[in-house]
Amino acid sequence: MKAEIIAVGTELLLGQIVNTNAQYLAEQCALIGVDVYFQTVVGDNEGRLVQAFDIAKGRADVVICTGGLGPTQDDLTKDALAAYTRRKLDLHEPSMAYIADFFAKRGIVMADSNARQALTLEGADPLTNDAGMAVGVALTHEGTHYMLLPGPPREMKTMFDRYGKAWLRGVMTDELPLYSKMLKFAGIGESALEHALIDLIEAQTHTSIAPYAKEAEVAIRLTTRATDAAQAEARMAATYEAIRERVGDHLYATEDVGLEHVVVGKLAEAGLTLAVAESCTGGLLGDMLTSVAGSSSVFRGGVICYTNAVKHGLLGVPMDVLEGEGAPGAVSRETAALLAEAVRERTGADIGVAITGVAGPDPSEGKPVGLVFVGIAGPDGATAVHEANYAGGREQIKRRAAKMAMYRVWLRIRQP
Ligand code: ATP
Ligand code: MG
Repeated sequence: MKAEIIAVGTELLLGQIVNTNAQYLAEQCALIGVDVYFQTVVGDNEGRLVQAFDIAKGRADVVICTGGLGPTQDDLTKDALAAYTRRKLDLHEPSMAYIADFFAKRGIVMADSNARQALTLEGADPLTNDAGMAVGVALTHEGTHYMLLPGPPREMKTMFDRYGKAWLRGVMTDELPLYSKMLKFAGIGESALEHALIDLIEAQTHTSIAPYAKEAEVAIRLTTRATDAAQAEARMAATYEAIRERVGDHLYATEDVGLEHVVVGKLAEAGLTLAVAESCTGGLLGDMLTSVAGSSSVFRGGVICYTNAVKHGLLGVPMDVLEGEGAPGAVSRETAALLAEAVRERTGADIGVAITGVAGPDPSEGKPVGLVFVGIAGPDGATAVHEANYAGGREQIKRRAAKMAMYRVWLRIRQP
């Protein structure tokens, strides 16, 4: 099924905003098997919008518009499509009720123009706007499918993800739509993951297996064609199980989320709290954890114990462990374990995590750049230390060390 994306807005033509909506929609269309052949940008002008619809009809089966669903005089997309298809504009009662209620609750008088946001086209399917007010429109007219989405990116995405995608899949007739599932991995590199699955990747059948590299993350996208989501799930099941059997110890999610979200979620589920003692990562682990909304219920805090004075003074690591002839040193199993235990005890957390390593560029204590120890104390009394050797620059080593610590916490607390 061929598609054209039409972004509506004079701001776009003037270069005042970037057309991120088209980028998002193009990517999403590819994922469900809709081929985007053209992208158009047109200003807030009814005549030119009608012209754009006419051109699109001649070369696409689906026309997806964003922008111009708002209440103001320059929001003309629905009027243009109504004029072009010679259909009347109808008031969508549930949307109207929602908008009226929105204003009533805030004690604001609703402007007449706000009613425009509740308009839909005669014979169209309304698309609910869970993130704003203007109702979306999905309409099949003389064999062409039209979808009108709002301009604000958050509204557009929410509407498309929740309702638009399913509607498009429903009107695909020439071939079955695509469904995909994202598998996220931690504690394993891209090449090791590919190596572990190479025979599956080479023998892929109705379910395709695509390794997907994101910034400091490894993922695999499974994709299949199916009539609906349940059938897709069933078709992907065997491949998914085979992958889980081999690399299940690294598979932390079946959707596109970061490891920190899963770790915070699991800690909350288990009612566990965590504290960190970070040397070479300088607070990066704490930063990652606190980027998750709701982390305050599981993250107690921590110490950035960068110098030996702080490792000793605040966390009580004996000086003869940290320094001196024959001492294990600041970058050692011993120090990692002691830091983890101390931060756990002093903060009253269930789990203490410590990171100590050589981020470079120069070796330290005669130890090589990239050597990292992660200590994990608790939640059950036992302390474990994990050693890793990372290549790369300072920033990369820090990020990898923090990710590794996160991964080790996940392994500790995940349910079997
Ligand atoms: P509103 O109710 O806010 O008027 P609307 O559906 O009428 O929404 P527009 O008026 O066209 O949409 O655009 C509203 C805002 O949404 C723009 O100012 C811009 O910030 C953003 N926006 C619109 N189109 C795009 C686009 N193609 N890419 C990125 N952002 C966009
Ligand atoms: Mg507008």
